[in-house]
Amino acid sequence: MSQCNQCEQANHGTGCTLGAVSHGVCGKSEDIQSLQETLVYGLKGMSAYASHARRLGASDSEVDAFVQEALFSTMTNVNFDLGATLEYVLECGRMNLRVMRMLDEAHVRVMGKPGPTEVKEGTQAGPGVLITGHDLVDLKKLLDASQGTAVKVYTHGEMLPAHMYANLHEHPNLAGHYGGAWQKQLREFDAFPGAILATTNCVQIPRDSYRDRLFTTRAVAVPGATRITNDDYRAVVEKALALPPCEQAIRRTTTVGFHHSVILEHAGAIVEAVKAGKISRFFVIGGCDGAEVGRNYFSEYAAACPADSFILTLGCGKYRIREHDYGTHLGLPRLLDMGQCNDAYGAITVALALAKAFDCGVNDLPLTLVVSWFEQKAVAVLLTLLYLGVKGITIGPRAPAFVSPGVFKLLEERFDLRLTGPSAKEDLYRALGRAA
Ligand code: SF4
Ligand code: SF4
Repeated sequence: MSQCNQCEQANHGTGCTLGAVSHGVCGKSEDIQSLQETLVYGLKGMSAYASHARRLGASDSEVDAFVQEALFSTMTNVNFDLGATLEYVLECGRMNLRVMRMLDEAHVRVMGKPGPTEVKEGTQAGPGVLITGHDLVDLKKLLDASQGTAVKVYTHGEMLPAHMYANLHEHPNLAGHYGGAWQKQLREFDAFPGAILATTNCVQIPRDSYRDRLFTTRAVAVPGATRITNDDYRAVVEKALALPPCEQAIRRTTTVGFHHSVILEHAGAIVEAVKAGKISRFFVIGGCDGAEVGRNYFSEYAAACPADSFILTLGCGKYRIREHDYGTHLGLPRLLDMGQCNDAYGAITVALALAKAFDCGVNDLPLTLVVSWFEQKAVAVLLTLLYLGVKGITIGPRAPAFVSPGVFKLLEERFDLRLTGPSAKEDLYRALGRAA
């Protein structure tokens, strides 16, 4: 059952309830409503990525035109056809692939060549700023505003991959990384003594304990925090200098930065190793993280992957699996951190390159995708994978509430889309074609 209240005809002036047998006053069905919501959420996720790209000087007028037309298609009395609506949904996936490619190229162009990079996790003695979200332009401007001061800048959440880009990594004020995924920020921001800058989703409404030292940028705004809309981050640096310093507390050192260009430098060796039976499978385990208990599924899945497999990860879903030591295989870490959620483009690039090398389709590769979703950027990425015809993707920990039973059945039949099951190990063994 879902509700639609977008026009004057809304039932009883409150809303039409759409279900298996009940249609809207206009005749809209539950499945059309479901696909229209999928489209709108995919457009929102894609627009966030396009907005990040625009900050880096990259835009695509064809994408902009598609956003307008696709939104138009969801207006009242425009489109009641399941097939035509599904076309828009998959076209959104195609457009999002363009946007993710554009963002990937812009990141490399502006932030420098990516490469494997060691990151100190924890804090170092002295005043500090913690920066969270996805916007690397904000990070660069913050670093420049702090240059020449004693302020140390730490990444949080989805900012961790920033360390892989040469122009950021080499900046003298970029000190390391602090904390985990977005849902831990209430506790982690509370414990961090310095100033905090939230640049994009996913920000939470702050506790009183750190509200007065929280800054946000542009579209991001929470009650009581200071919102900066002019790219001038000197106030954040001044706040950090006035606050108590961080203590020396390095937890560990980890390696990030397995951008698709880094992995594909080894493409020849990888192909030979697969042919020689030395690599059993590649897993892409990543996406979003969240607070639900069911997300332990992803930790259990990754821990059970065979020792001769590689796990590519991206997005803040990596925090579910990066505490485990997976060791190395063929001289490479088994867990390869490719970057932010938008770097799903990198995983796609690797998969397409391997398919070309093996002269087969992506669905014929020894590759399994296990995707954790939370918000609308993940919807856009999923639509891209479906547009590419990738089959057998497992998503979880729950089915999206906006996907009706009829639409889920359609996606199951056409794309073999699966939900995470009760046992991660059983799902893994099925992917490996082995008995549990
Ligand atoms: S668009 Fe259709 S389903 Fe939605 S409120 Fe109007 S009449 Fe109801
Ligand atoms: S991966 Fe998803 S949930 Fe995690 S920070 Fe990025 S957008 Fe938010």
